[in-house]
Amino acid sequence: MPSEVVVIGGGAAGFFSAIQIAEKLPSAQVTLIEKSQKLLSKVLISGGGRCNLTHDCRDFKQLIKNYPRGQSFLKPLFKKFAVNETLDWFHRNGVATKSEADGRMFPLSNSSQSVADCLLKAAKRLNIQVQCGVAVKSVVKNANGFELHTNKGVLNASEVVVAVGGQSVRPCPDFLEGFDLQTIDPVPSLFTFNLPENPLVALAGVSVPEAEIWLSGFSIRRTGPVLITHWGLSGPATLWLSAFAARWLKEKNYEADVYVNWVNPLSEHDIREDFSEMEHRFAQRQMDNLPHWNLPKRLWEFLLIQSEISPQAKLGELSKKAKNKLIDRLVRSELKMSGKTTFKEEFVTAGGISDANFEPGSLECKHHPGLYFAGEVLDIDGVTGGFNFQAAWTTGWSVAEQILNRYRGS
Ligand SMILES: Cc1cc2nc3c(=O)[nH]c(=O)nc-3n(C[C@H](O)[C@H](O)[C@H](O)COP(=O)(O)OP(=O)(O)OC[C@H]3O[C@@H](n4cnc5c(N)ncnc54)[C@H](O)[C@@H]3O)c2cc1C
Repeated sequence: MPSEVVVIGGGAAGFFSAIQIAEKLPSAQVTLIEKSQKLLSKVLISGGGRCNLTHDCRDFKQLIKNYPRGQSFLKPLFKKFAVNETLDWFHRNGVATKSEADGRMFPLSNSSQSVADCLLKAAKRLNIQVQCGVAVKSVVKNANGFELHTNKGVLNASEVVVAVGGQSVRPCPDFLEGFDLQTIDPVPSLFTFNLPENPLVALAGVSVPEAEIWLSGFSIRRTGPVLITHWGLSGPATLWLSAFAARWLKEKNYEADVYVNWVNPLSEHDIREDFSEMEHRFAQRQMDNLPHWNLPKRLWEFLLIQSEISPQAKLGELSKKAKNKLIDRLVRSELKMSGKTTFKEEFVTAGGISDANFEPGSLECKHHPGLYFAGEVLDIDGVTGGFNFQAAWTTGWSVAEQILNRYRGS
């Protein structure tokens, strides 16, 4: 049986790994070390203090689609431990949950504190030694496993779980420099698009629930809520696109042409047909009184002005050129993105420890038996909505399962 397991990192992935190891291997001594004085800090601030702990997506084939990076890691793991299993564990450990209309799941208490308390309580019950203010400086392999050199002395471990979160500057934690791990350069994911000096930002607060958004030169499009902010574009569809295009946008230095179809799913053809019909029925109507495909009034008037059409102009008096311009803006507004802004609710790092270091379905390093990884330190990241915590729970559970199998096999 393992003598000592050390988990590095006191976040969601570190806690869940440590708890699952201690549950599955009661004879193991599990120690969790955290460099700061604060445990589970991201859990506590997440979801605006409510902790969006997972997403109500029970089919793992659908679930996996929410990860721009890390699908190769997660696919085999989700077959064993995904949303149902996560909820089952939290429910058994006293955290009742609820789903919101968009699928995000929160503790029923609406407080991230109940998620943190549940993890802390489980760690205590399982006699996990939790040490704060202990930072790993280097790790050395020896005949019995690993020696961890920390600011507070040396720890020995037969197994080490690295759960130190996303590394924003270098993809590999410094203390693993000598391990020759394959890594993917980090780039930020989940951000909003800046549209400097674009008059659209005067409409801050306006949201279109089913807009389509895409980037010129990038193949993936997204339909969903697009929110206009006082600096540019936000909302779930924008954040989703930022995640899938994170690396591409970084290469472009966050300078890109963004397009929005505000009347999605209608196409240019549909809008032209609607115009022809309206021209028969409403030729004498003022443009600002025209039916406008359920667009927010402020946005409709903005698009009219941008198309050089007076809101008081009558539909029957519209020139062909002006009408074409308006149709173009409705289905294909072109906006210049220049820069990004971090999304306050949830941001993550794309990149990290590459799947090339592992056999499929494993989180134990091929070339360093006994060294495991969990959470955002891996090249795994999800879109907003609870998917990043789900990756932390799943990889944490999987690490424990693999340590258990290691000992069963020996
Ligand atoms: C503001 C914000 C809100 C978010 N909200 C949500 C949400 O609602 N839902 C969701 O799914 N995701 C959310 N996320 C993303 C989610 O929080 C992360 O994906 C998740 O916390 C990653 O967990 P982790 O355990 O891998 O890393 P972390 O939570 O980053 O934990 C890593 C820990 O390791 C410690 N550590 C680092 N180096 C060392 C070292 N050398 N020695 C010892 N300890 C070390 C760090 O101090 C840290 O405490 C949010 C992110 C942010 C920033």
